[in-house]
Amino acid sequence: MNDCIFCKIIQGEIPSVKVYENDRVFAFEDINPIAPGHTLIIPKVHAENIWEIPEEDLAAIHVASKKVARAIREALDPIGVAALQLNGRGVNQMVMHYHLHLVPRMAGSPELSITKWDLVPGDMALIQQTGEKIAGAIR
Ligand code: 5GP
Ligand code: ZN
Repeated sequence: MNDCIFCKIIQGEIPSVKVYENDRVFAFEDINPIAPGHTLIIPKVHAENIWEIPEEDLAAIHVASKKVARAIREALDPIGVAALQLNGRGVNQMVMHYHLHLVPRMAGSPELSITKWDLVPGDMALIQQTGEKIAGAIR
């Protein structure tokens, strides 16, 4: 895509701190890191979100995430690594080229807000109804 920042990063038209690439994926450091080592993994072929990305690229990203997460653990020794992936402007996807965030947390560093939410018990009837609706749409 001509005007896509991440496509430009893959082409080398915008500089990036690359940590890994293979024939399908490219991984690089986020320039607004939530924490040191915040890494993005993207498909080389432009796809906007989870609905558009081909299964082969999706699988390649998740296989690469294991390789990169292992490297993050060896290089930085974090107490955990969060994986986050946003789809759609309604959930604050800002770059419309599929990307998986890997965000490490170091011992003694603040809690990552993306990993913490209040556990409030839901309405079981509604949970059942919604689950059935989704299950009925699976194909
Ligand atoms: P999301 O779309 O999931 O909200 O996040 C997009 C991410 O891309 C943000 O964390 C942002 O910092 C990162 N980002 C946006 N533009 C650039 C860029 O030009 N270079 C790099 N390395 N990261 C970017
Ligand atoms: Zn793109």
